[in-house]
Amino acid sequence: MCGIIGYLGDREATPILMESLKRLEYRGYDSAGVAVLELPKAGHANRTSITKSEAKVDTLIEKLEANMPSGKLGIGHTRWATHGKPTYINAHPHTDCHGKIFVVHNGIIENFAELKAELEAAGHEFPSETDTEVVPHLIEANYKGDFLAAVRAALKRIKGAYALAMFSSDDPELLVGARLNAPLVVGLGDGEYYIASDITAIIPYTKRVLVLGEGEVAAVTPLGAEVSTLDGVTVKSKVVHVDWDVAQAQKGGFPHFMLKEIHESPDAVANAMRGRLTDDGAVTFREFDVPDDRLRSITDVLLLGMGTSLHAAMIGEHVIEDWVGIPARAEDASEFRYRRPTVGDHTLNVVITQSGETADTLVALHQAKERGSLSVAVTNVIASSAARDADGAIYLHSGPEIGVASTKTLLAHMISLYLLAVRLATVDGRVSLERRRELVEALRALPDQVRGILARDKEIVELAHKYSGYRNFMFAGRGLDYPVALEGALKLKEISYIHAEGTSGGLLKHGPIALLDEQFPVVAICTASSTKDKMVSNVHEIVARSAPVLALVTEGDHSLDGVPTDIFKMPAVEEAASAVLNTVMLQLFAYHVAVKLGQNVDQPRNLAKTVTVE
Ligand code: GLU
Repeated sequence: MCGIIGYLGDREATPILMESLKRLEYRGYDSAGVAVLELPKAGHANRTSITKSEAKVDTLIEKLEANMPSGKLGIGHTRWATHGKPTYINAHPHTDCHGKIFVVHNGIIENFAELKAELEAAGHEFPSETDTEVVPHLIEANYKGDFLAAVRAALKRIKGAYALAMFSSDDPELLVGARLNAPLVVGLGDGEYYIASDITAIIPYTKRVLVLGEGEVAAVTPLGAEVSTLDGVTVKSKVVHVDWDVAQAQKGGFPHFMLKEIHESPDAVANAMRGRLTDDGAVTFREFDVPDDRLRSITDVLLLGMGTSLHAAMIGEHVIEDWVGIPARAEDASEFRYRRPTVGDHTLNVVITQSGETADTLVALHQAKERGSLSVAVTNVIASSAARDADGAIYLHSGPEIGVASTKTLLAHMISLYLLAVRLATVDGRVSLERRRELVEALRALPDQVRGILARDKEIVELAHKYSGYRNFMFAGRGLDYPVALEGALKLKEISYIHAEGTSGGLLKHGPIALLDEQFPVVAICTASSTKDKMVSNVHEIVARSAPVLALVTEGDHSLDGVPTDIFKMPAVEEAASAVLNTVMLQLFAYHVAVKLGQNVDQPRNLAKTVTVE
């Protein structure tokens, strides 16, 4: 999610940590910090110096330049806050009660509340609000003279996602890294070693890296790096040679941030669910912890967003009505703000904004709030304006999104809204335990299913190239796939500058069909749903107008056999999951069309990532 770096070697650690953090800053962090084990003066115990900044890396660098700790072992972090605001106290590294163990962390400790309560009962004190802080304390609690053994014992208790770099002042020649559901690499230099969340951090120093596997721990000493499991079983890791420059490394070897971010979707989907969903479909949102009674009093839901977020809002509208059975409406926030507001104190107002700073959405939020409605911001940025101004927040935890066209964060928005709908439906007793379990199963299977779509990139490239010569496109879908069709059209126009419209299958005959001819292709979403047969009829109508059709069809469905269309087969899954997979397919389609046309997909003309003006 954010950046971590560790160094152990013969050189001064601080300048290396500073440079590495600077290289990681392209991800846009909120705060930063380093811990360096200072060279002991004769007769003195080892001392670790911590320098933190609640602002960006540059402020940290200024502080370090003014007061440079000297030592050969250190760790550094740039934070993308998930638990606790971006403050000085919450900035990493975090330490134990005795200031001996130092930890930087990327990810989310799902069971931190439970562990914190247990450690507090045993007398540990926690100055920060972060989930991370349980790690050094848990290591401390397990420490019996062997730091590595204490790390392993502590990590066995931790659920969630972590990439960690750690050391103890008592072990000046040991740097430890560990990972679970978050990336971590060990860089092998000449008599020096690095631990990093991202190859970008270390690329100027070494091209030789060990990529840690899930649940593995790396113990780095001046003699080398040893990788083992949490049970202490040695693992033989492969050394990989990376031939990237810094710019390539920042993109993880992908040609564009957008493609990298589409490939981060499986993690974005998993992170949006992390720690929020039990097997029985009980949903909890830590920062939107509203009592059941208050939620039961909700009579209607207003979902506000702009652009891609408006499409997420429409998806939310659909599932809330369907699963909860109360009126829900998705609104263009820029229109809502100039209408007579019709919300009251029984309305739940859900504002959807990746950045949390979208100007129109914020004004609409304020108006709905003034009228007494309960509000929640679904956003990727902790302590953003939307998160601060709403009564609660559901954070996406997707990590920074750099491509201007939203991709992974839309998926995280969809998952978050599914969870919100399940939560509302549960308090209302509208959804049976059996149905909840079905939904949980469908949602949990999604990260792998998204990977399945990503793995079919080649097929999508072929289709994109075949269609890239057209100057107009129509995207059509029904039900949940109507907003998915709107989003398919939006993505294509945003990055390829091809004219594209989205329509519902039903609306097609009420106007848009007049546009169709052999030069006006239609992407028709015909995957399994209660309205699939209607979409199939629409495809027949389209084909009768000689328009080329690219249809998304569920595997095993033969309704379009013999109809002259290009078919992209999608897996047979729950409808809500299918909308997610269809979205990924259309994102890749738009991406490949735009690349084929030579467009600047990461920074499309006339657009900005965050629209802070109306
Ligand atoms: N969950 C941790 C925090 O909020 C780490 C976040 C990160 O990956 O930067 O501090």
